Amino acid sequence: MKMFICSDVHGNVRALDAVLTAYREISPCRLLFLGDAVGYGAHPDACLDRLFALPRSSYIMGNHDWAVLDLSEREHFRREAFTAIKWTVNTLRGKYNDLFVRNFKMTVENREFKAAHGSPVHPEKFSYIFSVLHAEEVFRACDFSLCFVGHTHVPLVYTYSNGPKNLEPGKPFTLDPSDRYIINPGSVGQPRDGDNRASFMIFSPDERAVTLHRCEYDIEAEANDIVEAGLPEWFAERLFSGG
Ligand code: ZN
Repeated sequence: MKMFICSDVHGNVRALDAVLTAYREISPCRLLFLGDAVGYGAHPDACLDRLFALPRSSYIMGNHDWAVLDLSEREHFRREAFTAIKWTVNTLRGKYNDLFVRNFKMTVENREFKAAHGSPVHPEKFSYIFSVLHAEEVFRACDFSLCFVGHTHVPLVYTYSNGPKNLEPGKPFTLDPSDRYIINPGSVGQPRDGDNRASFMIFSPDERAVTLHRCEYDIEAEANDIVEAGLPEWFAERLFSGG
């Protein structure tokens, strides 16, 4: 069965709805959500409702999700992100805390793949994999052939044999069974690779390939909601630039 992989929704419900239209087209499929359902955006409640309604799902805990549950985690955030998390906590009023605790895992690991929000070496530290050096450290420290991660908001594949590879939307990237891969599907709700479209990925185990997809959504409406909610305007502006 195909696996629908997405990450870093960050409370952006219009981006999530656009991505879920594609999800329904390939359904039945599995869902791997790589973390950060909330933070930055104006619709944490609606995003969690939609994510938790999906069958055959695995949910990874992101640093923003964790911060909703654990006060001490919020101290590491920059000022604007801290403001957004406080707003999110006030908006959710604990409604999803039980579901978070029950469903969100720091890592998922099975015969097929490993998954974490940031580096899987110490998943609770949420370290970024931003460079070949970081990727090499992960390849050395962990045993996997496929590892899915989010957190950087930049879609990319690191190969063990041959460094990083950019993915072309819509074009399957074939995985060599003898190689190893760290794969990031980019971000649904706060892309940071210069492309403002929502990003997600489909993994086809039968073809042993991943395909990146991008889809457009109503950025203007989503940005207006961020400003109207009184959240830092920077989070709305970033939606337009995708950076
Ligand atoms: Zn994130």
